Amino acid sequence: MSDLHVRAKALDAEDELGGKRAEFVLDDTVYLDGNSLGALPAHVPERVADVIDRQWGKLRIRSWEESGWWTAPERIGDRIAPLVGAAPGQIVVGDSTSVNVFKALVAAVRLARGEDAGTGARDEGRDEIIVDATTFPTDGYIARSAARLTGCRLTPLTPAEVPAALSPRTAAVLLNHADYRTGRLHDLPGLTAAVHAAGALAVWDLCHTAGALPVGLDAHGVDLAVGCTYKYLNGGPGSPAYIYVRAELQDRFDSPLPGWNSHAEPFGMRPEFEAAEGALRGRVGTPDILSMLALEAALDVWDGVSMDAVRAKSLALTDFFLRCVEAYVPKGLVESLTPEAHAERGSQVALRCSPKLSTSFEQGGAPLAGDVMKRLTERGVVGDFRAPDVLRFGFTPLYVSFVDAERAARVLAEILES
Ligand SMILES: *Cc1c(COP(=O)(O)O)cnc(C)c1O
Repeated sequence: MSDLHVRAKALDAEDELGGKRAEFVLDDTVYLDGNSLGALPAHVPERVADVIDRQWGKLRIRSWEESGWWTAPERIGDRIAPLVGAAPGQIVVGDSTSVNVFKALVAAVRLARGEDAGTGARDEGRDEIIVDATTFPTDGYIARSAARLTGCRLTPLTPAEVPAALSPRTAAVLLNHADYRTGRLHDLPGLTAAVHAAGALAVWDLCHTAGALPVGLDAHGVDLAVGCTYKYLNGGPGSPAYIYVRAELQDRFDSPLPGWNSHAEPFGMRPEFEAAEGALRGRVGTPDILSMLALEAALDVWDGVSMDAVRAKSLALTDFFLRCVEAYVPKGLVESLTPEAHAERGSQVALRCSPKLSTSFEQGGAPLAGDVMKRLTERGVVGDFRAPDVLRFGFTPLYVSFVDAERAARVLAEILES
């Protein structure tokens, strides 16, 4: 048994979140892909079975009221709120992240321009949207369309370039809290303050941080935020996303997708739109109840969990994994893209494969990193790869152990050496 394996066992023994793993359905696979699809909390199937058998099967239409279906988007939003540092009444769940990026970004431009929903009168001076150039592609595609629709130009920049580029023409800035490829954590407080100093609005995508570290939306004055729930929040495949609208902005939040669910009186069936009060304006149409209530059940695993403890374990895990990789993998075969500094690190480690490896691995044009990841998966270590050459290992503090981290690095070394 190696020293690092012994050390891993000791770290697991003193891990205050160690007991959480038993609340998930897991086998002896090392599951390092919770940043793509969180594992299944063990109590969810029974809860979903009740939603189907009793709520849908027996109560049928009555469940919209009696089972709380109608109010699920805001109720579940309030369950997510403490995990991202938000007071209640500011988050609604529904639609995909992509759709929520659209709502948030167009609404942000309208807010920045002081656009009047009734007359369309506005300050035309602000005609630029800045978007993270390294973003997950969907955010970039949606930002381009939002820019076309609002008559803005789109400026793609790295987050570090944003402060110097802000101007009185900037309306909104769409940023990722953590980079999906490298795991780099961006400075949400500092960038939000810079955006505000320029009179613009900050929209943050929390897909890779909600459930992995404290976000502090209220404390840092974030205007609008969106995120998915199937990664670190374990809501299940395609579980609905959420949108956060800061309380002070809600009465001016003018959604580009006003549906009957965001109407002040949805069952009034009136031809004129009149926006509901509060975060409900972020709703659009009939909520996807089955996946939404699976998410609601999944959120039970967070009861009593402190996000500071989650963050501390996440950093300890990624530190330990990097230490094991350094000890086991021969020099020069992989390079970590994940920042050393804790303040700049999310909850994943991204390793770029050296071109040196490609001759031995590339078969029939298969991407190198994909090939390495396939072999890892065959040996019970599941991460994922991002084209062209990045191996991505997500560390979900609720159920990944230090022994998992050590084994992943050891198997990776064996594959790269072979
Ligand atoms: C996962 C992820 C998404 C996913 O968008 P969907 O609309 O839910 O498919 C969007 N943005 C980022 C940054 C992500 O990491």
